Amino acid sequence: MFDAQTTCLVVVGAQWGDEGKGKLVDVLAERADFVVRYQGGANAGHTVVIGDAQFILRQIPSGILHPRVTCLIGNGVVLEPENLFKELDSLHERGIDTEGRLYISDRAHLVLPYHKLLDAASEKSQNLGTTGRGIGPAYEDKYGRRGVRVADLRRLECARAALADRVRRANQLLEMMGSGERANLDEHLRLVERLAPRLLPLATDAGLMVYRAVRERRRVLLEGAQGALLDVDHGTYPYVTSSNTTAGGAAVGAGIGPTAIDGVLGVVKAYTTRVGNGPLPTEAGSPYGERLRELGGEFGAVTGRPRRCGWFDATVVRYATRVNGLTGLAVTKLDVLDGFAEIPVGTMYRLDGHSCEEMPAEVEALARVEPVYDVLPGWTQPTGNARKLADLPAAARAYLDRLEKLSGVPVRYVSVGTRRDQIIEV
Ligand code: GDP
Repeated sequence: MFDAQTTCLVVVGAQWGDEGKGKLVDVLAERADFVVRYQGGANAGHTVVIGDAQFILRQIPSGILHPRVTCLIGNGVVLEPENLFKELDSLHERGIDTEGRLYISDRAHLVLPYHKLLDAASEKSQNLGTTGRGIGPAYEDKYGRRGVRVADLRRLECARAALADRVRRANQLLEMMGSGERANLDEHLRLVERLAPRLLPLATDAGLMVYRAVRERRRVLLEGAQGALLDVDHGTYPYVTSSNTTAGGAAVGAGIGPTAIDGVLGVVKAYTTRVGNGPLPTEAGSPYGERLRELGGEFGAVTGRPRRCGWFDATVVRYATRVNGLTGLAVTKLDVLDGFAEIPVGTMYRLDGHSCEEMPAEVEALARVEPVYDVLPGWTQPTGNARKLADLPAAARAYLDRLEKLSGVPVRYVSVGTRRDQIIEV
C-alpha cells in the first residue's frame, strides 16, 4: 500500500475486532518507519506469529517486532503502565531490543487500579461484556476532565493530590454501585512513584514526532485496535468500546490532522466473529459456528473467551467502508473456509418485511434483522500455500470478488495463514 503518494496509512478493523490487524500491521511494518497505536488500551490483544514464536501485544504496537521501526503509543490510548512494562520485559526476555524505539505520548491518560474496580462494578450492572481492565472508566475520567495523564507524573506532588481526590471519588462510586471493593490510596501512590522513573524517559510529544515523520514523507502506519462496529459513535451502541476505533480517531489519537492521512486499509475476516454481548446478525448455527471457531482458533487473545462466529456480513463491511473512508481491504483467514462445501455471504438485511441495506442505529433493530444470503460454492484445495491470486482455487477467487463487489472497496491483501509469509498482495 505504501508508494510515493501514500506514506501515512491507517489500518483499522472493519468488523467487530480480532480481524487479524496485528498480522497485517506486522506485514506492512516491514516497509514502515513508524507504527503508532492511536486508541484503546490493554484490552485488545494483537497476535503476531513469527516462525514458531507467538507474540501477544496488548499495548505496544506490533511494529516493535521489526528492528528498524519506531513505535509510538499515541495520546488517544489509555495506558496501563504496569502491563506495558510486563509486555516490555517479556519482549526483552525474548531478545527484542526496544531501546530508543518505543515512545509514549505524554498526553496519554493512565489506567489505574481504581479504574479496574469501577469497571468490574459497572460490568455487574450493565453486562456489556467488557474485559474488566479499567479502559471504560479511564475514558470516562478523560472526558470528565479528571484523568491522570503521563505528563502529570513529571510533577509527582500534583499527581499525588489528584490521586487522593480520584481515589476518594472512586470509593464513593463503588459504594453507590453496591460494591464491597475499595481503592487504596497508598497503593496508588506507591504505584505511580514506582512507575514514574521508568515511564517518564519514554514520554514525549508523540504527536510532534508523527507530524515530523509525515512531513519528511517517512512511512507511518497508524494502528487501530478493535473494529468499526465497536466504535463508540458508529458501533452497536451500547455494546461498544469507549473510544473511536475508526479512521477519524486515528488522526485525533495520533495527534495529527486528517489531511496527513493518505489511505485507510480495512481488515476483515473472510467470515465474521464477535466477542462479548450484542447482536451478530449473521451468526452461524450449529455445527458451522463451532467449526469456524475451531478452525479459526476463535478464542480471545487476552481473555481466552470463545468468540461467536458467523458468515461474512457485507452490510457491516459496507458500513465500515463508509465510516472509515476505506481505500483498500485486507481479507484475512481465507484458509479457515477451506473445505466448506458452500459458504453463505450476508448481502443485506430485511427488517420488519422491508429491505435494509444500511446499519440501523438501534441495537434492538439490529437484533431483529434477518440477513439475506447469497450462497457461494466452497473449495476443497487448501489455500495456505497460495502467494498470488492465481494460486487460489477458482471458487476462492470468486468468493473474494463477491466480497469486493459487495463491500465497494478493492481487496489489496489476502491472508491465508498465521505466518508472515502467508499473505497475497493483490
Ligand atoms: P487483531 O486484534 O485484529 O490483530 O486479531 P487477533 O490477533 O485477536 O486475532 C487474529 C488471530 O488470527 C491471530 O491468532 C492470528 O495469528 C490469526 N490470523 C491472522 N491472519 C490469519 C490467517 O490468514 N489465517 C489464519 N488461520 N489465522 C490468521
